[in-house]
Amino acid sequence: MRSTSRSQVRGKEMLPKPKPKEQRQHSATKEAVADIEDLFSDKEIHKIRASLLDWYDHNQRDLPWRRITQTKEIPVKEEEGEGEGERRAYGVWVSEVMLQQTRVQTVIDYYNRWMLKWPTLHHLAQASLEEVNEMWAGLGYYRRARFLLEGARMIVAGGDGFPKIVSSLLKVPGIGDYTAGAIASIAFKEVVPVVDGNVIRVLARLKAISANPKDKVTVKKFWKLAAQLVDPHRPGDFNQSLMELGATLCTPLNPSCSSCPVSGECRALAISKLDKLVLITDYPAKSIKLKQRHEFSAVCVVEISGRQDLIEGDQSNSVFLLVKRPDEGLLAGLWEFPSVMLGKEAALTRRRKEMNCFLKKSFRLDPQRTCSILLREDVGEFTHIFSHIRLKVYVELLIVHLKDDMSDLFSMRDGENTTWKCVDREALSSLGLTSGVRKVYTMVQKFKQNRLSTASAAARKRTNSKKSGSS
Ligand code: SF4
Repeated sequence: MRSTSRSQVRGKEMLPKPKPKEQRQHSATKEAVADIEDLFSDKEIHKIRASLLDWYDHNQRDLPWRRITQTKEIPVKEEEGEGEGERRAYGVWVSEVMLQQTRVQTVIDYYNRWMLKWPTLHHLAQASLEEVNEMWAGLGYYRRARFLLEGARMIVAGGDGFPKIVSSLLKVPGIGDYTAGAIASIAFKEVVPVVDGNVIRVLARLKAISANPKDKVTVKKFWKLAAQLVDPHRPGDFNQSLMELGATLCTPLNPSCSSCPVSGECRALAISKLDKLVLITDYPAKSIKLKQRHEFSAVCVVEISGRQDLIEGDQSNSVFLLVKRPDEGLLAGLWEFPSVMLGKEAALTRRRKEMNCFLKKSFRLDPQRTCSILLREDVGEFTHIFSHIRLKVYVELLIVHLKDDMSDLFSMRDGENTTWKCVDREALSSLGLTSGVRKVYTMVQKFKQNRLSTASAAARKRTNSKKSGSS
């Protein structure tokens, strides 16, 4: 569908009737190109820039990454390439990567903790991947955290300070078009646009663009429109104002058009006023979601006890076995409880068989020979959603007592490629674990508590009946 031209929205009689919703949402790419070839006029650009900047100056949210200034604790060190621009760039970078993961409110906490630990790029460059993963725990997409660390190390090793323009920023691991545009415009005032989901929504509505916003050609055109609008004197503020509008007023489901500073320039609003069948939320078109892949895994929380009476009381003498995931792929380099992929749904017997095989091969943990089982129970299951995978996780608890010394047992294992460690309960609680691993641990803890209270209730009942029998 073509967007409505500027002259058409001026007069009611000149507006074309929009195509039905179905038809709009499945426009061919060719049509989509024509759809947005219609760029902003000079008058529109001038009006939108002025209105948005004025609105932003009075309404911007107070967010920690917007007030990066010199502090007493961390003085600006120009000679180390840590001037205000660099500090700002670092803050924008960290916050933008975090904002790609979750909501602003959640990011604020993570951001503040991150900056307390690594206030500058140089501090971050000295961190270990393990520390970074711990700090990132719960945000998901750990690859992005790893890129932040690798990028910081690369910039510091380069010795030329923070890259200041988009073309140089794009050479840093993990920095793509959007983050490069945000850093360059906000921290170094390069006149470049940014396009994220919020910007796409605002532009799609301003221009009544109904093409699929995920289509590559369409995305390119959104960048062209955003580049037209960016203010040459205040590029960073303008880009933030556009994103801020999308985040606060021009929201996906319930836009606040009556408070919008650019409502006079909004074609979607004009069209929706004339035709009740057309909703503002029809723009941008909903893209069809990719089908998620179903995967299945069995997780075994292996608790190694030094005591036979573990279940009944003190657990301080036990440790948990953690395995490090491979350095590539999903959740690369992160710690988890021993797990095996199952290929398809599997009954308990098969799950245990696969798990036994893994434990025996990797650690010589063999219930027949090297350990005695104090408890082995199926704890439950849950589904963990990744962007493209629905992972069904079966959880079991295995508490064992080793027959040999633990170091002998593990040093003789076959799985030389498996990196592992044993941690006690206290260490486990403070470790930065992925939300999936944390969920497994919580399930197991709840299971043990329930079991304990059932056991104590049964014991009380036995004692009471003994007493009443003897009286
Ligand atoms: S008028 Fe409404 S739909 Fe248009 S840009 Fe403003 S908030 Fe978004």
